[in-house]
Amino acid sequence: MSGFNHPSAVVFDLNDTLISGGERGLRDALSRAAARDLGVDPEAFAGAVRDSFDARCRGALGDLYETYSRLAEGLGAHPDPAAVRTAVARRLHFERGRLIPSPQVLEALDRLRGKGYRLGLISDCSAETPAIWHETALAERFDVAVFSWERGVRKPDPSLYLAAAAALGVAAQDCLYVGDGASDELAGAERVGMRALRLEFEVVDAATQADRCELYGARAWDGPAVEDVGELAALLGAPRSPSDPMPVPGR
Ligand SMILES: [Mg+2]
Repeated sequence: MSGFNHPSAVVFDLNDTLISGGERGLRDALSRAAARDLGVDPEAFAGAVRDSFDARCRGALGDLYETYSRLAEGLGAHPDPAAVRTAVARRLHFERGRLIPSPQVLEALDRLRGKGYRLGLISDCSAETPAIWHETALAERFDVAVFSWERGVRKPDPSLYLAAAAALGVAAQDCLYVGDGASDELAGAERVGMRALRLEFEVVDAATQADRCELYGARAWDGPAVEDVGELAALLGAPRSPSDPMPVPGR
């Protein structure tokens, strides 16, 4: 773990790392309720929401109002604006409840900030996360948040990592990336020069793990890992001063 002693910034994943991504059963129940708002078949709509994960995360379906309108239209419905707004409000209410971090997570982030680390976030997420991010207790603790929905690409696209590092004012090599590993995000971080560390928000059963692999992508990782977010600050020494000269390869 000694290699982690000199990053100057820590870049986190959001879902299933700092907060729970939510069980499939809960997400589907939310979709079925939204379907009833929209006047479409609940099971078909829940499937359409699941199947559109990639497009929603890349911003290809627009904001949440546009997303719900398009998905309903894809099922042959033409919901009136009030119905769409009701479904949107339902989804945002759910997400506001989901984006409440635990005291342990907030304490860990505060300890890292107290040590002088700059903190970044990179999240593969659909429209609702950036829409309500500023309301969360997480937002004020991060120097930068990079959302796939705003960037049009998902992890492990190098541009997301490089955008976070640039916004933090550091080189990718000076970042430690921390995530649960979905979407090949850990190896992706290493490919741009970051160090990577696995941290999972919670231990889940095999069925949930399989569901997340199917939905979010590969998560293979045999590299460094911690079991609890509280271990991070103890693991990391003082951050590298941003003014320290960067080592130059080959000299
Ligand atoms: Mg994740």
